[in-house]
Amino acid sequence: MTFTTRFAPSPTGPLHLGHAYSALLAHDLAIQAGGTFLLRIEDIDLSRARPEWEAMIFNDLAWLGLAWPEPVMRQSERIGVYQAVLDDLWARGLLYPCTCSRRDIQSAAAAPQEGAPMFGPDGLIYPGTCRPTEAAANALSRRNRPTDLPLRLNMTRATAAVGEEVGFTEKGQGPEGEAGEIRVTAWQLTHGIGDIVLARRDMGTSYHLSVVVDDAAQAITRVVRGQDLFEATAIHVLLQALLDLPHPDYHHHRLIRDPAGKRLAKRDDARAIARFREDGASPSDIRAMVGL
Ligand code: GLU
Repeated sequence: MTFTTRFAPSPTGPLHLGHAYSALLAHDLAIQAGGTFLLRIEDIDLSRARPEWEAMIFNDLAWLGLAWPEPVMRQSERIGVYQAVLDDLWARGLLYPCTCSRRDIQSAAAAPQEGAPMFGPDGLIYPGTCRPTEAAANALSRRNRPTDLPLRLNMTRATAAVGEEVGFTEKGQGPEGEAGEIRVTAWQLTHGIGDIVLARRDMGTSYHLSVVVDDAAQAITRVVRGQDLFEATAIHVLLQALLDLPHPDYHHHRLIRDPAGKRLAKRDDARAIARFREDGASPSDIRAMVGL
């Protein structure tokens, strides 16, 4: 299989040094392997995505010397594809609607019988307030899928459907130095991740669902991205197993931090590539700054 990787930014702010590192690393790995580097615009959050940020992404990446095949995949044009996948998961009794507010989840998770609240890749682990009983889950799956409510993955049923564990090959390094064959057990998924939202009310999909569907649609063989997404990869390999999609290899890379050691955020304009460009930096200066 041809080595295929991608850079998948969300056009919700300027690209910063951390994005430059991720994109350059993915591109370099593709060139070294004689493979393909793709660009995908992850713009499902229409309340935050802006055409001007997208234009700036194209501009900054081209300035850095990156090239990619056109047309690029744009997630906002693929909502129908995600809906079909949600229909399938719904019919299999793996999803349920959830009307809990953030505050409901906080107070349920803080209830004394729950022990100390636990955090997963999406924040507080859902305490299961709206999760149906087994009989109710089966009945629910025979009804039409609600399209106006957030839908959660029933992690207990999902793990039962895929077996005791899922796994992936780490070609880079996780935040704790994890490398090689990484196993993710059903227990880790149910206790460390829980019932995550797969369809958000405002988008009709979610980052986790779209990224998995699109990595498969683009035949990605190597996902290159920051260590901040290492925990989320457990969700992604589970979804691949549930949807019978191939598992790409993953290369999680170190995070670029500001001088105080803090992870860069979209709002950190001081480290935006555009700012360095204005100040006269060259693409090789940017490479040097990120240690490439
Ligand atoms: N769109 C995601 C972001 O901007 C990255 C997704 C990924 O690389 O899997 O953080």
